[in-house]
Amino acid sequence: MGTWTSGNTEQRCGARRCVDEFPHITLPALRLIVGSIEHFPLDGHQAGVVKMGGVPVMLWSLTGRCLKVAHNGPEGKAIETPVHFDWTEAGFGGRRWWMRCPTSGENRTALYGRWGRLACRECQELTYRSTRQTTRQRNLEQVRNRQERVRCRLIDGWDKPPRMRWTTYRRLIEELCALDEAEHKAMRAYAIPSDWSPPW
Ligand SMILES: [Zn+2]
Repeated sequence: MGTWTSGNTEQRCGARRCVDEFPHITLPALRLIVGSIEHFPLDGHQAGVVKMGGVPVMLWSLTGRCLKVAHNGPEGKAIETPVHFDWTEAGFGGRRWWMRCPTSGENRTALYGRWGRLACRECQELTYRSTRQTTRQRNLEQVRNRQERVRCRLIDGWDKPPRMRWTTYRRLIEELCALDEAEHKAMRAYAIPSDWSPPW
């Protein structure tokens, strides 16, 4: 798919890329599922999937304070990276939790999959918003903006508003499906192979 294919075969050079182009796992997202890390039972277990464009790009497993993340590794194979938590004092006797970057050891709240490894934004040379966009990034952004605009016209992003004509509705749904497919293609380069299952 020309400009879409990248993933772990991507060259380590060129313009800095934007964070939302890459598979990522964040502490806020994790907290939405497991509650606070602090109060997660030491013998508790929870596993989950991170999807982008409908494609599973990361699998994670939390057992007590032990987080393992499976992601796209070298040569398109999935690999598993253990992620350690750290905490700092946060006033009123509270603790602020962090994920330690597997590469630099720095405390971070998000880790990204790029170049076949899992690491923080700085290690992966990603920006929150890049000034010089690559074609692939621009494509992905355009797709997402367009999706947003189409969804805004529908109820709950999918249903037909009472006054909308059926022909208009069908056209929008078709467009939405095409856009979903475009995002799906963009993320396929980072997909966890479907025949691979994590060792946990
Ligand atoms: Zn790092």
